[in-house]
Amino acid sequence: MSLVGPIQLPHLSVLRLGHRRERDKRITSHLGLTARAFGADEVLLAGEVDSSALETWNSVSARFGGKFTSRHEDKPLSWLRQFAKDAGDGEPGVIVHLTMYGEPWREAIPKISTDRPTVVIVGGTKVPGEVYRLANHNISVGNQPHSEVAALAIFLESWVGPIDDENRFSGGEIKVIPNAEGKRVINLEEE
Ligand code: SAM
Repeated sequence: MSLVGPIQLPHLSVLRLGHRRERDKRITSHLGLTARAFGADEVLLAGEVDSSALETWNSVSARFGGKFTSRHEDKPLSWLRQFAKDAGDGEPGVIVHLTMYGEPWREAIPKISTDRPTVVIVGGTKVPGEVYRLANHNISVGNQPHSEVAALAIFLESWVGPIDDENRFSGGEIKVIPNAEGKRVINLEEE
């Protein structure tokens, strides 16, 4: 349930900083899938180049639908500095940074504007101090260290609220039919 009621989603990116190909393989993969499932339009992967993460996300999007995209970003700080000034239309974008040191999410979420392209940043290794300064909102999901996947999921669910799966994830090969008794999947390619 969104803390701010139904919102018209802005273009929403997730920037994953400091990816380490071997160590973060699974968590980064899960982070992208969580971003997609909970309403993000794209993931920008910074840190080590890793085509396998991008391939996983592309393959899930092809099978389960939607227009989610992903790419590697070589210079995340330059990209953020630019986004802070110009999100592509000459006006500033909104930068949200998830960090256990930030403002509690229930208090911060109602202050986030919803009419501008937005990037949600999550870290991996130590996050550069400049990220805290560039962010419009440094937001904590509790003040204990846990997981970027958990932080992102809770933040997106609390800000964006439930996703309209029918519209958002159209065009896939597979559709899951929610069912309390078991597994129901329609293979749209065979129809
Ligand atoms: N060992 C790393 C360090 O010292 O920088 C911590 C990595 S932490 C698991 C990775 C990311 O998860 C953080 O950069 C932050 O984005 C997110 N995270 C972890 N705990 C959080 C919390 N309580 N609130 C918000 N985000 C959190």
